[in-house]
Amino acid sequence: MKFIRSDLAQLKAYTPHPGGESTRQVDQLDTNESPYDLPPEFKEKLAWLYQNQVKNNRYPDGGHQVLKSAIAEYVTETASLKTPLTALKISVGNGSDELIRSLLIATCVGGEGAILVANPTFSMYGIIAQTLGVPVLSVERNPDDFSINLDQAKTALENTQNPPIRAVFVVHPNSPTSNALTPAEIDWLRRLSEDILVVIDEAYFEFSQTSLVEELDDHSNWVILRTFSKAFRLAALRVGYAIGHPLVITALEKVRLPYNLPSFSQLAAQLALEQRQVLLPSIKTILQERDKLYEKLSQLSPLEVWPSDANFFYVRLRGTDLDSPKYSKIQQTLKANGTLIRHTGGGFRITVGTPDENQRTIARLKQVL
Ligand SMILES: *Cc1c(COP(=O)(O)O)cnc(C)c1O
Repeated sequence: MKFIRSDLAQLKAYTPHPGGESTRQVDQLDTNESPYDLPPEFKEKLAWLYQNQVKNNRYPDGGHQVLKSAIAEYVTETASLKTPLTALKISVGNGSDELIRSLLIATCVGGEGAILVANPTFSMYGIIAQTLGVPVLSVERNPDDFSINLDQAKTALENTQNPPIRAVFVVHPNSPTSNALTPAEIDWLRRLSEDILVVIDEAYFEFSQTSLVEELDDHSNWVILRTFSKAFRLAALRVGYAIGHPLVITALEKVRLPYNLPSFSQLAAQLALEQRQVLLPSIKTILQERDKLYEKLSQLSPLEVWPSDANFFYVRLRGTDLDSPKYSKIQQTLKANGTLIRHTGGGFRITVGTPDENQRTIARLKQVL
């Protein structure tokens, strides 16, 4: 069709979970959500709020003021900030995916910039950039600890012109490799030109408890992304947020859709923050399970497993080419047996699930290996 942009022909739609799941019980360990749904009392409270406070015939609060204030309070409480965070430094998105897109629109679209990523990393940066016609430069990671090859990154920054690199995307800790940024990487980010936006995606902050939010005031070109989709157990409702300099936030607010977040999602995120003492203790269980799973995975030959700063593991097969068909075969067999894991970046990413799910993961891996 002539009216469709020609460069879209090479792209495929993103389909992580095949829709129309059968009634068969599957362990969904391929998308890094919490394995725990919201508690029934939480859902009841949310339903009550929905019934009594939401006018479905009216547009949602397009300014997200109440939610932004609640986020500001939460972020301030979980960091030692010189001055409390205010709503002026926060933008809210329909998942952090929307914020990634808004950041790209606000920086690179229209031939103004390219982005830099270090693979393997979160695939959405590259995917969304491509749909917007934004060039993606990728550098490698060191194969032993998955830290970014900084020499390559520096060379790419120096040598890329027309358009130059205007945004660098890092994940802290990285997905799929589960490692937090190293001091050397953080130092590199601190020294990057102010003409480059640095996006630090902290989707797994509540698991890693490591954040660069305390340094935001020193770097007007840094933005931190967070989400309610992981530790807060709200993946179904699509809420993410960005923290950054008010001018960057203003740019994000200009390019987003006016009513990007349904009233129900705003209420749910507000309630989740209000009841964080109820929701977040599940993190402790997940981290204990993570330690057990690490032990078990380490004992499975020929798996190579790396320590995790998040709620998932990255594993590879020792002595096997990264593009070996063995990977797809193992993934398919596990799927047929009821465990979904993600095959990405030349390895497997496996989410920490419930104790039962993790036991089945180990048993099924043992069988297939
Ligand atoms: C899961 C994840 C997100 C969350 O995206 P949402 O759109 O908020 O669900 C963002 N970044 C990374 C690296 C992730 O793994």
